[in-house]
Amino acid sequence: MPTEELRRQVVIIGSGPAGLTAAIYTARANLNPLLIDAPADTDRQTTPGGQLMITTDVENYPGFAKGIEGPELMMEFRKQAERFGTEFLEEWINKVELQSRPFTLHTENRIVKADTLIIASGASAKWLGVPGEAKTPRGFGGNGVSACATCDGPLPAFRNKRLVVVGGGDTAMEEATFLTRYASRVFVAHRRDKLRASKIMQDKALRNQKIEFLWNTELAEILGTHEQGVTGVRLRDLVTGSEKNFDCEGVFIAIGHKPNTELFKGQIDMDAVGYLKTNGHSTATNIPGVFACGDVQDSVYRQAVTAAGTGCMSAIDAERFLDHLPVEMPSGEEVTIEGEHITADRKLIIEPSGEVISNEPV
Ligand code: NAP
Repeated sequence: MPTEELRRQVVIIGSGPAGLTAAIYTARANLNPLLIDAPADTDRQTTPGGQLMITTDVENYPGFAKGIEGPELMMEFRKQAERFGTEFLEEWINKVELQSRPFTLHTENRIVKADTLIIASGASAKWLGVPGEAKTPRGFGGNGVSACATCDGPLPAFRNKRLVVVGGGDTAMEEATFLTRYASRVFVAHRRDKLRASKIMQDKALRNQKIEFLWNTELAEILGTHEQGVTGVRLRDLVTGSEKNFDCEGVFIAIGHKPNTELFKGQIDMDAVGYLKTNGHSTATNIPGVFACGDVQDSVYRQAVTAAGTGCMSAIDAERFLDHLPVEMPSGEEVTIEGEHITADRKLIIEPSGEVISNEPV
C-alpha cells in the first residue's frame, strides 16, 4: 500500500531525451520537477533512459561531431537535469487520475500529486505474436529471439550465426546492417516486395553483401529447443501460400514500436494506434495541465533530437500553464493551483476536500 504522499508543481513521466529535456528546462525555471520512471525490467521492456540506452553509435545528435554512444548521451542528459535539482523516482506507476487537478499518480509506494504532468513515456518494440516468440520458457524470447539488435546482437549466441530480421522499415534496415558485424549471414524477411525504409537506409542494406532479402515472406513460427535455443523458422510465401522451414540461430523482430500509453487509456485523447494527441503547435493534450512529448506523441519523426525538442516545448507549456492559473476547463468551471473548482456560474467554490463554499460577495 502507498505510504508517502508527495506534491509537486511539475511531474514528468519518462527519462528519455524528451523527459530529461523537460526536466532540465523546468528545473532551471525553479519548478523542482519530479521525474518518475519505471525500473529496468527485461520482461516489461523498460530501460531507464529510454531507447537510446539500447543504441550504440548516435551519429546524428547535433553537437557531437564524432558521434556518441547512446547510454553516454543519456548519462549527460541526466547529469544536466540533476545539476539543476531534478528529483528522480524509479517506481512503477499503477494508476493515474487525471479528472481533477492536482492530478494523482499511484506508484508502488507513494501517492504523487501533480499540478502539471508531462508525459514522456516513449514507445516499445512491437511483436508478431507467432508461436515460439514468447519469452522463455514459453517460447525462445531471450533465448535466440530479440527485438533489439543493438542490445543483443553482440552476444556470443549470435556470433557467426545465420540470423533472420523481420520488417521492411528503417528499424529493420538498421538492425540488419548492424547485425552483419557479428552474424555469418543476415536474412531480412519482409511481407511485401518493397521496403518502407528511407532511401539511404535501404541503399545501405541492399548494398551489404552479408544481407539477403526474402521478399513477400511472412514469419509463421519460430522453431527450436530449450537446450539449443532457436534452430530455425517456418516461413510462408505470401504469393504462393507455400511454407518452408528455414535454418537460422537467431530472430530479430523489427516491425516498429507502439507508444507506452496503456496507463492513460480512457483519460487522454489518443489516435487509433495509441499515440497521445497534442493540440496544434503545442504539447497540450485534451486535459488542461497535461502535456505530452517525445515518441509517446510522435509517430512521424521519432528522433532523439525531435524528442528533446518537444520535451523543451512541454516544459515551456507547463511553465506558462502554471503562470496562468486558474484555468478554465471545457465545462466552464475554473480550477486553481490548489485544486479548488470554481463553478461555471462563478457562484461556488468546491474545495479539494469536497467542501462547498460560496464565491459570492458577503
Ligand atoms: P515502420 O516504418 O512502421 O516499419 C515497420 C515495418 O515492419 C514495415 O516494413 C512493416 O511492413 C513491417 N511490419 C509491421 N507489422 C508487421 C507484421 N505484423 N508482420 C510483418 N511485418 C510487419 O517502423 P520502424 O522501422 O520502426 O520506423 C518507425 C519510424 O522510426 C520511421 O519514421 C523511421 O524513419 C524512424 N526510424 C529512423 C531510424 C534512423 O533514422 N536511424 C531508425 C529506426 C527508425 P509494411 O511495410 O508492409 O507495412
